[in-house]
Amino acid sequence: MRELIGKIPTKDPNITEMVYRTEMVRCLECQRTAPMGIEVVTVKKSEESKEVVRHVCYCRGHGFDYETKAQNLPTRPYVQSETSLLRERQIIPVA
Ligand SMILES: [Zn+2]
Repeated sequence: MRELIGKIPTKDPNITEMVYRTEMVRCLECQRTAPMGIEVVTVKKSEESKEVVRHVCYCRGHGFDYETKAQNLPTRPYVQSETSLLRERQIIPVA
């Protein structure tokens, strides 16, 4: 089972960290296998493709920062309406 929690944008607009909740992962930090953990996939987008540049797993303890960060950011819809784009650039204040 793998469930997307959220996406974390990085300083590079082409690079996004996708955070998943995943069963049976081996933690990078403590090297223990956790029944439920956090998977972080760093994806680099170019015009034609998406490339995975980093793929790491953590137990819930070590992945906690990623989990909370991803949960606090709304997952962006694939198709954005013009209004939400404008709101993102803070042209239209959020009521
Ligand atoms: Zn760990």
